[in-house]
Amino acid sequence: MSVRAMIFDRDGTICREVGYVNHPDRLELMPGAAEVVRNLNETGWKVVVATNQAGVARGYFPRHVLEQAHERLREMLAREGAKVDAIYACPHHPDVGPPGLRRACECRKPGPGMLIQAREDFGFDPAHAFMIGDSLKDVGAGRAAECLGTVLLRTGYGRGEMLWKSATSPFWPDHVADDLSDAVAWCLRRYEAVHSGGVDAEGVS
Ligand SMILES: [Mg+2]
Ligand SMILES: [Zn+2]
Repeated sequence: MSVRAMIFDRDGTICREVGYVNHPDRLELMPGAAEVVRNLNETGWKVVVATNQAGVARGYFPRHVLEQAHERLREMLAREGAKVDAIYACPHHPDVGPPGLRRACECRKPGPGMLIQAREDFGFDPAHAFMIGDSLKDVGAGRAAECLGTVLLRTGYGRGEMLWKSATSPFWPDHVADDLSDAVAWCLRRYEAVHSGGVDAEGVS
């Protein structure tokens, strides 16, 4: 079977949106996230997190805090029998920060850099991957990486994104979901329809 990947944003998606996580203790799981991730683990999906963390470039917290926060995220998931296969973080900002962190990188969403890195690391075709997040930047990254589907969540910033940004956004999600479990259920249905049903654009299954 082809390698399949569910790619999630972090804040407002897998974790609650609490502003900058400048201390690992601020990180909180989104209700239901562990169960959603565990179900994906058990059905053979790669679970990937891709997160913009410009707070590093902005000097709000050092890079090692990012790693500590991700360690805490892994621990919280592990307590509920769930795991993420990889976490990618972009510490850059195009306009702010010291040299090295202030740059127009490929990894900051809506750029596809982190998704392309995941694709190289795990060897999946984007036709077997989805991007789920609470920002239209997540949708843009999923689009740019040519994922099979993109989902905008109404959690985190999602509701406001829909209200205030969607009219001018160059990206539009394939689906808008109330929560993570709704989002993943839509992706699984779409995957089935494309790869197991009559419509098989790739000629693979
Ligand atoms: Mg987010
Ligand atoms: Zn970056």
